[in-house]
Amino acid sequence: MSYTHLIREANLIDGAWVAADLGRTIDVTNPATGEVIARVPNAGAAETRRAIAAAYAAFPAYAGLSLNERVLLMRRLHQAIMDNLDGLAALLTAEQGKPLAESKGEVTSSAGYVLWFAEEARRTDGAVIPSPVSGRRLMTTRHPVGVVAAITPWNFPSSMLARKLGPALAAGCTVIVKPATATPLSGLVWGHLTEQVGFPKGVVNVLTGSAREIGGEIVSNHQVRKITFTGSTEIGKQILRDAAGTVKRVSMELGGNAPFIVFDDADLERAVDGAIVAKFRNAGQTCICTNRLYVQSGIYDRFIARFAEKVTALKVAPGDTTGAEQGPMIDTAALEKMEDFIADALAKGAQVITGGGRHQRGGLFFQPTVLGGATPEMRFSTEEIFGPVAPVYRFDDEDEAIRAANDTEYGLAAYAYTQSLARAFRLQDKLEYGLIGINEVMIVAPEVPFGGMKESGLGKEGSWQGIDDYLETKYTCIGGL
Ligand code: NAP
Repeated sequence: MSYTHLIREANLIDGAWVAADLGRTIDVTNPATGEVIARVPNAGAAETRRAIAAAYAAFPAYAGLSLNERVLLMRRLHQAIMDNLDGLAALLTAEQGKPLAESKGEVTSSAGYVLWFAEEARRTDGAVIPSPVSGRRLMTTRHPVGVVAAITPWNFPSSMLARKLGPALAAGCTVIVKPATATPLSGLVWGHLTEQVGFPKGVVNVLTGSAREIGGEIVSNHQVRKITFTGSTEIGKQILRDAAGTVKRVSMELGGNAPFIVFDDADLERAVDGAIVAKFRNAGQTCICTNRLYVQSGIYDRFIARFAEKVTALKVAPGDTTGAEQGPMIDTAALEKMEDFIADALAKGAQVITGGGRHQRGGLFFQPTVLGGATPEMRFSTEEIFGPVAPVYRFDDEDEAIRAANDTEYGLAAYAYTQSLARAFRLQDKLEYGLIGINEVMIVAPEVPFGGMKESGLGKEGSWQGIDDYLETKYTCIGGL
């Protein structure tokens, strides 16, 4: 499937497709081949100021559209995404590397968020509050917060944006989008689609370029009322600190370090299949990817044998190859990080069960890897791996597994496999994670709240809660009645 008709090599500011002021560009490469597939503007603070001013100017008229008009625009956007599903998926695979089937899943999910928030827009109601004294009417009403800046990562360049643009546009906010530099094309094409379906100029602005300069302007500009960020905990903390200067609302979807616990009573095949999806999806580069597998002693040997057998059989190939199950990693630094994690673990007593290094395909491909004998001293016990390396720890009892699972600053996703319903409820109570999958790993949907605890983030995306952060509640008291 061709995707070239969906490539936009300019930024969208106030309804115009423009180059960077100084004409500078950034190459976008296909991680599977190293080929340059596009050149996008390398914009900075001045362009960002203009984009923010455009969004600010467009806000009153957009917020003033009737609900029916806004919902119609959202529905058209949903349809436009679905009409372009194959091309958008091919574009995503070309710039990000994930297998085409995963890209299709991501783009479909993006469309799902847009439709969900189109429906939620109708439910942003307020309340009439019984007055404690007579002659008064007390009410709350909800209003769009204003200009929103959305900053997104490279690992899900489409769906992470959908979770932000969906609620922002549904609530009546105007937006500046800053996609990741490695994968800007999926973000730029959203600009094209919103324009095509009739969103007024200035409502959606998309900027590519220097994260430091664009981010610096976003955090300090008084016209931006909210920042919604998905990315690393390190950058998230920096934005939190910087946004304090102008007291902006912030939503943070940050890093994870997901435990995956397999109890002796688990359905072995189901647990192995779940572990493969939870670990190797997007070559291990997802925030909710399994980071640490804890396997109970009674099932440890059987689990590790079956897991390694299936991991060894995974098809590593460019994402647009038929049957590809694991594509390339995003860049050389990511490969080196895997090598460092493995070297650290081997020096501390881990064993390679399968994989263990770069793939014979060369380039940015890495072998799906399973390590046995993992211990808390190894770096991945506390750090996010973000790649196709699966360390397996052995444990003896439930309390020990829960303690180990919670022993991290992160709190995004956790998974467990058990046939005991009582244990499932105990895990629900005790695991300090925003998302919990019991005997299931594909747990994300527009209908459910996605968000982390602890240093994994602030706020929720998806569900009825996902639009809350884009709305301001006003209280009005009418007296003298
Ligand atoms: P990242 O390095 O933090 O970058 C995320 C975004 O922030 C990119 O657009 C980046 O731009 C931008 N950025 C970097 N420095 C900035 C600054 N000083 N001010 C403003 N923006 C700045 O993260 P990543 O490597 O793209 O993504 C991987 C991380 O995202 C992982 O930690 C993963 O767990 C996390 N993640 C979390 C979720 C979730 O929902 N919780 C979902 C997906 C990913 P450049 O690309 O130009 O540097």
